[in-house]
Amino acid sequence: MIRPIILLVVPASLFAQAQPVPQTNAKPGWQWTMDTVNTVVNAVRAGRSLQPKAWPNGARVAVLLSFDVDNETVALRFGEPTVGSLSQAQYGARAGLQRIVNLLDAHKIPATFFIPSVSLALTPTMADVIKKSGRHEFGVHGWIHEMNSTLPDSVERRLLTKALGELTTMTGTKPTGYRAPSWNFSPNTLSILRDLGFRYESSLMADDRPYELLQNGKPTGMVEIPVEWILDDAPLFDPRGDRYSPPREVAKVWMDEFDKAYDEGTMLVLTMHPHISGHRSRIIALEQLIAHIESKGAGKVWWTTHGEAAEYVRKQANLGGPLP
Ligand SMILES: [Zn+2]
Repeated sequence: MIRPIILLVVPASLFAQAQPVPQTNAKPGWQWTMDTVNTVVNAVRAGRSLQPKAWPNGARVAVLLSFDVDNETVALRFGEPTVGSLSQAQYGARAGLQRIVNLLDAHKIPATFFIPSVSLALTPTMADVIKKSGRHEFGVHGWIHEMNSTLPDSVERRLLTKALGELTTMTGTKPTGYRAPSWNFSPNTLSILRDLGFRYESSLMADDRPYELLQNGKPTGMVEIPVEWILDDAPLFDPRGDRYSPPREVAKVWMDEFDKAYDEGTMLVLTMHPHISGHRSRIIALEQLIAHIESKGAGKVWWTTHGEAAEYVRKQANLGGPLP
């Protein structure tokens, strides 16, 4: 893919998740034919909207909270971790996760936890913390937060197969959803997800509403639950970056996103990380968001997991299972 300039303007905080763009000998787009443009754009693209006519029980909006439990894997994946970076990341497992789960469980709010397999293997007790309420979902987030978008098919496939198997063993349930560690696809990612039987995907950004993914212009039966950098805690909460935002201001951005989702009857999908949002001064942002959402009144909001939402919109749209 051709994105040679982007990293020059991305704050350092994004390097933890954004894809490093390989330098290639690719022709710039202005030398392409329209056929080439269409082929590239249609490789993976948003298809029909899966926005349902109504949410369950008359709710006006769906709210899907997700936590990417990266912990040490972001420091490990490039093979050059430092003791300091590992310790900062371990905060997610030791302190952040429990604080977040306590808040969710106090409000009886379900959430989805996308976990790299190695992250859970390093601190297996996280599974019990997450499972305790019986409300939360586990999703796949790579094996070691690998840069899946840059890997050859055989390596990406092997790591994802291993991650799915290990997460199933460690949590006792087989995850149905995937979130790419780099929020990006290789040319093979969608085919691998279909081959492994995933029912939804949550890494792309083409809409506020759920939609079906197309591959080479054809429907796949794969539900996309879209994310956005606006709705991610990592870019705004890096104290070493040049765009650090006070958590109470971040909460306002999230509240504005929620208010529009509420008015439009769509959904709010928020991504956070235990090692980032789990800190004392930052959990305030999530507390304030929850209070704001709950102020709409009982029954107005469908708090749900990504997996439940994906199955609901699939059923409402008469969408079959993912097609092999
Ligand atoms: Zn991640």
